[in-house]
Amino acid sequence: MSSCARVALVTGANKGIGFAIVRDLCRQFTGDVILTARDTARGQAAVQQLQAEGLKPRFHQLDIDDLQSIRALRDFLLKEYGGLDVLVNNAGIAFKNVDSTPFHIQAEVTMKTNFFGTRDVCTELLPLIKPQGRVVNVSSFVIISSLKKCSPELQQKFRSETITEEELVGLMNKFVEDTKNGVHRKEGWPETAYGVTKIGVTVLSRIQARKMSELRGGDKILLNACCPGWVRTDMAGPTATKSPEEGAETPVYLALLPSDAEGPHGQFVSEKKVIQW
Ligand code: NAP
Repeated sequence: MSSCARVALVTGANKGIGFAIVRDLCRQFTGDVILTARDTARGQAAVQQLQAEGLKPRFHQLDIDDLQSIRALRDFLLKEYGGLDVLVNNAGIAFKNVDSTPFHIQAEVTMKTNFFGTRDVCTELLPLIKPQGRVVNVSSFVIISSLKKCSPELQQKFRSETITEEELVGLMNKFVEDTKNGVHRKEGWPETAYGVTKIGVTVLSRIQARKMSELRGGDKILLNACCPGWVRTDMAGPTATKSPEEGAETPVYLALLPSDAEGPHGQFVSEKKVIQW
């Protein structure tokens, strides 16, 4: 492995949409593809499954809730590749509708992984992204309905072109605090922890894209959020409309945008099309 080799990496890839993204990237990406999983045994089993199909992903452990794990991955990428060409932030969690865990716990736990874990991965790995690199943050279409259910003040903040990462972090923390204090409805939040975390991921993507353009405009890096659709995985269940392979299509399209593409950048993309939200 030399630092000249191109490399793509997918988080939460031992199953579901992330696994299907790795399979597609193994077939279509010119370079190494790294399947990551928080559980090494589950990750290695997934790699073996792809090897049985004649594909050759590499494996690295990554728990996005664990800063040490993220930094070990960062060091590995720097040592083996001198950076990163494609990052797909796919790892995420959702409580089932029937889950009786108190709402404030659901809010805290879901926020920790979906927003703060994804943000920590970005903080550590975005500086490694090479020129013409691609970053894909997997969000969800639920942001559209969740945003509509936010108060007009919150909607305005989330849609602001000038919101900073610190302000966004403050809002995400406030949501969790408000659920603990039982005042989240009064404070203008919707009744969906998952939806708020994915609003966070989508707004974060726009902020990061803006920063990327400001700091490294000449590097032609494209960073977007997307929705995979409603996909039959452990998260969404068997009645969802898309197969994991179909769910991988839009994330992979964004991960493989051609080197001369000028966009999309900083957008929310669904079915390979930019969606205004
Ligand atoms: P899934 O089958 O439940 O897979 C989720 C993956 O994320 C698993 O590999 C899981 O690992 C991993 N993960 C969870 N927490 C992690 C952590 N702290 N560190 C590293 N990996 C972690 O769900 P999916 O449907 O494929 O979802 C993939 C992404 O698409 C998520 O971001 C989800 O929100 C989004 N999405 C899904 C749908 C849908 O209809 N399925 C719709 C819109 C958006 P373990 O196996 O170890 O738990």
